[in-house]
Order: sequence, then C-alpha cells, then structure tokens
Amino acid sequence: MNILVINCGSSSLKYQLIDMEKEQIRFGGSIERIGSEKALSVYKKSRKTVKEPVTARDHHQAMELVFKILTDSKTRVIRDLDEISAVGHRVVHGGEKYSAPTVLVDETIEELEQFNYLAPLHNPQNIMGIRACKAILKETTQVAVFDTAFHQTLPAEAYIYGLPYKYYQKYGIRRYGFHGTSHRYVAEQAAELMKQPLEELKLITCHLGNGVSISAVQKGLSVENSMGFTPLEGIPMGTRCGNLDPGILLFLMEKEGLSASDAMAVLNRECGILGISELSNDFREVQKAAEKGNQQATLALKVFAYSVKKYIGAYAAVMNGIDGLVFTAGIGENSPEIRREICLGLDYLGITLDDEKNKAAGRNVDIGGKQSKVKILVIPTNEELMIAKEACKFIV
Ligand code: AMP
Repeated sequence: MNILVINCGSSSLKYQLIDMEKEQIRFGGSIERIGSEKALSVYKKSRKTVKEPVTARDHHQAMELVFKILTDSKTRVIRDLDEISAVGHRVVHGGEKYSAPTVLVDETIEELEQFNYLAPLHNPQNIMGIRACKAILKETTQVAVFDTAFHQTLPAEAYIYGLPYKYYQKYGIRRYGFHGTSHRYVAEQAAELMKQPLEELKLITCHLGNGVSISAVQKGLSVENSMGFTPLEGIPMGTRCGNLDPGILLFLMEKEGLSASDAMAVLNRECGILGISELSNDFREVQKAAEKGNQQATLALKVFAYSVKKYIGAYAAVMNGIDGLVFTAGIGENSPEIRREICLGLDYLGITLDDEKNKAAGRNVDIGGKQSKVKILVIPTNEELMIAKEACKFIV
C-alpha cells in the first residue's frame, strides 16, 4: 500500500511516497521556488540528486508536477494514480478544535481556513496544497495531521499565558506547541528502545532542527512544549528569536519604526543563531566559524545550548523527574558538540554523557555513560512515516 505525504511551505512542496508494508520511502522529492521563474524539481534517483527546472506558477501546478513525476516513464514509481491509497497532509495549526488527524472534506478545509490567523506563515500554504491535491485526486482519502494535535493534552496551567483571560476566549491566545508529530514519534521510539511502556516514562524530547522545540512527555502525553501561540517562542532557533521580554518588541517597533508585519519578519527571519552570529542560520557554518575563533559564532552556540539546558531543568521539575532525554532533527541527530554542551553540568539530574558514544553519532542509540540514571537517546525523527500511518487508519 502506498501513502503520499505532502508538506507544503510558502514556496516549496515536499512529497514522499511511502510503502506501508515495508515502512520505507519509495520515492521522495520537492518542488522548490514555486511562483518564481526559477522553479525546480528536486528528487533522488539511484542515490543521485536530480535537479530539473520546471514551470510551477502556483501550488496547483506544483502538485500536478508531483503526480506527473510519480507516474513518469523516467522515474517509474507508479503506473497509475490509483496506486496511491491515501494522502496525508502536514498541517501546522489545528487550533483547539483539532486534537487528532481528520479526514479532509470541504467543510473541514473551510474550517481550517479560520485558523490561518494563528499560523499565517504556514497554514495558508498547507491549505493551498490540500486544495490542489483534492482537485486532482478527487476520490482518494485525504487526511490532515496537525503539528499542534499532540500538545492538546497540555494542562491549562501550562497553556494559559499571564494575559487578560478574555484574549484567550476572544482570540484563542494560549500555548499550542508545535512539532507534535515529531515529538510523538520519537517518544514512542524511545519507549521501544528503553523496553518500557511509554505510559510509565517521563521523557524530555528535544527537536533541534531549523525550528526548535522541547517537549515534556509524561505517560505518553505531551504536558509541555517550548513553542507557544506561534512557533516563535522558546529556544533561539536558526532565524527565529525564541523567548523575549515583550517590552523589547514594543521598544524596537517604536525606535525602528517597524509595522507589525515588519516586526514579524524580523522576529522570524533575522534573529536566533543568524542574528547573534551575524553569519548564518546553518549550525554547521556557525560551528566552523566558532572553531576558527569567531566570538559571535561561539556566543550564538552557547546561547543555544544554555537555553536548551534551561528547558531540560524546567521540564524535569514539571514532571518531578526524567527517565529519558531524546535528541532529534538536523542538529539533535548530527551534532555531538551541541549535545555535549547541552548535557554538561546536568549530572545532578542523573544525565551523564559517554563522550565516545556521543561522538560515534549512531542512530537509535543510548549515548549515556554507565553512571547515567537517565537514558540519553539519539533518535532520527520521521514525521512523514507518522503522517502516513495516521492517514492509513482512515482507509475504508
Ligand atoms: P532540520 O530542520 O531538521 O532539517 O535541521 C536543519 C538544521 O540541522 C540546520 O541548521 C543544519 O545546520 C543542522 N545540521 C544538519 N546537519 C548537521 C551537522 N552535521 N552538524 C550540525 N548541524 C547540522
């Protein structure tokens, strides 16, 4: 059985066709720079990356291209679109209404559009992809899987901000939390690796990628997430600011004459590791510069690791303990240096790293030292497989 997983961004459309019997990717790629003259189709064939210029004026045209590529004689992935049993769409924000994956019928899509104001940089694009896909695969089951859904179990004391309560009632201003599909996936994997039921574990899952969020997962339920009303809160990320004194925003808007949308752009695109290092949002480049003695690069990495460490301490307090600490996503899976910096000085919590195991950077491994009371795990995330599994449940 083949499930197609779609992840639509503002100018890109990522896709994977997953063979559910083997739980393996049959084919995956992306259409990049949608809406520009320089649109590109990128995919891997025989381990080589193929990049081809294409015409993709909008997401609908990009979606048509994906189906053409999948059925093309060059790629020979499938012969007919009937071979796609269901489609799983990643949707960033499901508001308070959607705490579980949902079949996409016209009314659901219209309802989802009402949450666009909660994730203006993500949801409109997700919905564009859904509409385009539904227009082409009219009869195929299509399911939305929400980034926010896993965090709908947060208790009220974790999701209510210190704002007038009427703003929660009027606008739904509360902590939602993001990367839910990833946190859930790695928490389930961690329980398997630890050979213990998820329901008996206290886990802290660190999704450290371009976007960064930390979750406290107790008895299999998300009880905390560092991202908030929007994916800006928490750790300073590649280009996003993370936690700020809200007074700073008001000060800067006045001093720099920034409109709300200017300020939004600064907070999303010019801050975090890029902002502090004034070099790059790519950790590999910042690490290289730090090794050569660049002070701001060193500071950016220190700010990052310090911030993650603070959340680990806070979430251990929230759960009254921790059994497993999980690192995932681009940085979490690939940077032993950052993992080391985060874990340094956490031995009072029972977190002690084995430097050799950490450097070996294996997958699905425990990198904790012999005396570590807490399992320290590196687990590659697989949001696409999780989305595909959810979509499968709706096939009749
Ligand atoms: P993701 O959003 O999960 O794709 O993660 C992207 C981030 O992972 C980027 O900031 C990359 O710089 C970072 N990354 C990927 N590989 C490495 C690596 N080997 N060392 C450090 N950071 C890495």
